[in-house]
Amino acid sequence: MKPVPEIFAPPADVVEGRRNLVGLDRGALTALLVEEGLEPFRARQLWHWIYHRGVTDFALMTTLAKPVRERLATRFAVRRPAVARAERSTDGTQKWLLRFVDGQEAETVHIPEEDRGTLCVSSQVGCTLACKFCHTGTQPWVRNLGPAEIVGQVMAARDALAEWPSPKDDRQLTNIVLMGMGEPLYNYDNVATALRIVMDGEGLAVSRRKITLSTAGVVPMMRRCGEELGVNLAVSLHAVRDELRDVLVPLNKRYPIAELMQACRDYPGLSNARRITFEYVMLKGVNDSPADARALVRLLEGIPAKVNLIPFNPWPGSSFECSSAAAIRHFGDIVNAAGYASPVRTPRGRDILAACGQLKSDSVRRRKADEAAAVA
Ligand code: SAH
Repeated sequence: MKPVPEIFAPPADVVEGRRNLVGLDRGALTALLVEEGLEPFRARQLWHWIYHRGVTDFALMTTLAKPVRERLATRFAVRRPAVARAERSTDGTQKWLLRFVDGQEAETVHIPEEDRGTLCVSSQVGCTLACKFCHTGTQPWVRNLGPAEIVGQVMAARDALAEWPSPKDDRQLTNIVLMGMGEPLYNYDNVATALRIVMDGEGLAVSRRKITLSTAGVVPMMRRCGEELGVNLAVSLHAVRDELRDVLVPLNKRYPIAELMQACRDYPGLSNARRITFEYVMLKGVNDSPADARALVRLLEGIPAKVNLIPFNPWPGSSFECSSAAAIRHFGDIVNAAGYASPVRTPRGRDILAACGQLKSDSVRRRKADEAAAVA
């Protein structure tokens, strides 16, 4: 196995001497305010302004006394990542390239549907996993996103959707999937802090039932994720034999299929009402035969599961082809006949490279170009 690229830590979230309050959990926020000589109950007031109202300017936080607001404004900030680029697909999907304080970038995608609106959130800049069919894996530099950068994606989307204060009903952003750039279980602590903030009922208030974390199969972290966060789990399976999965998802060499399926069986809180979603990218002539479908059914035995069949989304330079519609249908019929829902995910936002596996920031390339220009 090739050495895994180093994962760099997020930068300190301080700009011009002012620390960002976004991304601190309730305990940390309270501690910070107490350190400043403020009363602990101020944390609850701030929480409401930051996460329920979406206010970024302390001057507008009118339940706080004016001197307190002024003091907070000299020491702290309520920041969002900057929107470096915004694109809208003909199908209504929106993609935002967000820039963080160190200039690194990651993408967030909003997918509106009839009965819901799903935000696809990134957990890292780049990804170490290098899955063969995924664009993100071709980006060499990888760093973890901090809690503020993960929560910041949700808040930036809510800004763009003009969805403040957090509405109770009729939201455009109802669901969150951690299916953007990166492997969330390789950045567990920051993802967990971010999700606890997002799930808090007095703030953004997105319920754990509406959140799905997608993993390529970091087996040792799966149980903790279920116990501590209780979110829905999606597993990127993509192959039913280790020989093939070793190639498509190299992480399989570390955590092979049998171990992965056992970790799925053991995932806390599973029931027929709460199933694991298995993602299966349809690659022509690679993993899409009826025999593969039958083997998949055998693997799923005993696991409350559904299967998302994802037509392969091409990207510049990718070496796979998407399975034919007939092959996908046939595959789905076999899985379905065995009692597992197996919807084919209609690709969304393909025209703006916003579909599964198409996300890649060009910040690295651009910075290299800038450096070259500076030298010349
Ligand atoms: N690292 C996590 C989450 C990010 S990928 C994971 O692996 O689950 C989100 C999903 O998109 C995964 O199922 C991934 O395998 C899939 N995907 C990646 N590239 C794709 C492509 N080109 N076409 C279709 N799906 C793709």
